[in-house]
Amino acid sequence: MHVFLTKASIRHELQWQRSQGAKIALVPTMGYLHQGHLALMRLAKAKADHVVASIFVNPTQFAPHEDLTSYPKDTERDLALLRGAGVHALFMPDAMEMYGAQSGTGSGTIVDVPDLSRILQGAVRPTHFRGVATVVTKLFNIVRPDVAVFGEKDYQQLTLIRRMVHDLDMAIDILGHPTVRESDGLAMSSRNVRLTPHNRQRARIINQALDQAEVYAKGQEFLDPFAICALLRQVLALEPAGTIESLDLCDAQTLAVLAEPTQLAGVILVAVRFGDVLLIDQRVINSGR
Ligand code: AMP
Repeated sequence: MHVFLTKASIRHELQWQRSQGAKIALVPTMGYLHQGHLALMRLAKAKADHVVASIFVNPTQFAPHEDLTSYPKDTERDLALLRGAGVHALFMPDAMEMYGAQSGTGSGTIVDVPDLSRILQGAVRPTHFRGVATVVTKLFNIVRPDVAVFGEKDYQQLTLIRRMVHDLDMAIDILGHPTVRESDGLAMSSRNVRLTPHNRQRARIINQALDQAEVYAKGQEFLDPFAICALLRQVLALEPAGTIESLDLCDAQTLAVLAEPTQLAGVILVAVRFGDVLLIDQRVINSGR
């Protein structure tokens, strides 16, 4: 696996790969990799000839009070995992390389998908998704992939990127990968290591609540948002160490919050804080119809 620190060097390499007819896949990450990321790499390998991973902890998607400086990092381990997964190239720029003299404030030009960036998680993190949309656009322009892979765990992010690619006519296939979980059901996340051992145990409740809601919905003719959210709150309340920051049942396609019973596919989007660690999770659910 070759590691590229500059835009010019990876562009040069990919120009050559493209000239050989290689189909290119991109998997953007912020590093501190786990099996969830590696599952995305495997999907990318199945869909393309040349897989590029990126590691960039993007400052513009963190608000000043968020965990940018404490975001976990272990580059040697990441390199070994990516090599083991058969990734061909790693793009690992620093903020100066990515944003130049604007590295303090981010790009002067921003990409925004306002319908999707101000709702749900975007309502509590108002600048987060435009930071994501802008950096993903930059990565797409640098790598020019045929395919890019994102996790369903960040469901709002995946939906927003699909919309951006559609609206801006970017010729890139966006593939979503289901959420990969620890053996006890907790969604894998680079942030899980920051949980105290006590909270790590308590955090299992999130997946348990999602499981119960999914089973309940299957037994109903309609998805009833009030009943489902009440059930989720009731189960999550069994672990008072976790504070619910947001909990919504949305249309799985548009992310419009469901206000009345429906037979459409829904997605539960939940954010629960344990100590100073914010965990997010999701589950697509359907009624029994
Ligand atoms: P991150 O490094 O957290 O920015 O994540 C990079 C990519 O991996 C994003 O597309 C995430 O949605 C995806 N991802 C993170 N955790 C998981 C997981 N547990 N299962 C599947 N995909 C994941």
